[in-house]
Amino acid sequence: MAEWKDGIAKLTLPTPFPVGDVNAYLIKGDSLTLVDAGTKTEESWESFKAQLADLNLKPEDIEQVILSHDHPDHVGMLDYFSPGLDVYGHHLNERWINRTPEFEKEHKEFYEKFFLQLAIPEQYFVPSMKVMKKTLVFSCNRSLTGTILENDIPPALPGWRVIETPGHAQSHIVLLREKDGTMIAGDTILAGISPNPLLEPPLPGETDRPKPLVQYNATLKKLQQYPIGLVYTGHGTEITELQSLIEKRLARQHDRAMQVRGMLEGRELTVFEVCKMLFPTVYERELNLTISETVGQLDYLYSLDAVSVREEGISFVYTAK
Ligand SMILES: [Zn+2]
Repeated sequence: MAEWKDGIAKLTLPTPFPVGDVNAYLIKGDSLTLVDAGTKTEESWESFKAQLADLNLKPEDIEQVILSHDHPDHVGMLDYFSPGLDVYGHHLNERWINRTPEFEKEHKEFYEKFFLQLAIPEQYFVPSMKVMKKTLVFSCNRSLTGTILENDIPPALPGWRVIETPGHAQSHIVLLREKDGTMIAGDTILAGISPNPLLEPPLPGETDRPKPLVQYNATLKKLQQYPIGLVYTGHGTEITELQSLIEKRLARQHDRAMQVRGMLEGRELTVFEVCKMLFPTVYERELNLTISETVGQLDYLYSLDAVSVREEGISFVYTAK
């Protein structure tokens, strides 16, 4: 049952995704604020209304929404609210929550070329693009009212601060309440699993794609600079020992990358070949996620100067240095 605790109420909403439930949060600020807005399914909306009713609230009582990032399980129900509701987030949410035909074309062209560079066999292209499209069915189609950036005080939330945390999504931010170090973290860090460093097309005006795992590690190290206490997460339970969890996650990722480097010792492999070796039983079923993870590990090794890469025809081949 939803309840208030220090001005924050946690709502847990079902999703159709393997990750399971997603969390959204209400904050009692100068305006009643909802952080993240669940998936666009009737089931989620019904659950949302029932949990609001526990707090004697209705959807119309919500005065503004702040997005932690643009993934469908965090934005989809925006389509069920009044179109006049104020929605704030990082400006990079916009291309995903308000998809234009130009962006869809750019997106498709980027992946078609990128998949060839990764040496993914063509038979996987259509199913993989289908999965991406299917996921976006649960997203919304509306615009941000305003944008928030690093170090901003979010609208109507005095005492809170915005920290940009790119990695899992390019648009990711967290909200930190400075008086007690309480953080609403979205998917920046989760108690039970490591969030996937999802691939995205180049940012507007850029030609190179972002390197999400390298960014994500920098984000974790950045969070180590803040006095953070209780962490409310996008999926699952709260985190109380953030600093030690960050250490553990960084160490585990480094070990995993070294395992990849080992595979590349004395031989050259394409990204798809590395992906198959890393995820032999799930790569076909979960190609998008396993490829993101593989590219992330290779980007990380490259940033350490631990691997080299060259182009062979249209594909990249990696080897240990
Ligand atoms: Zn996410």
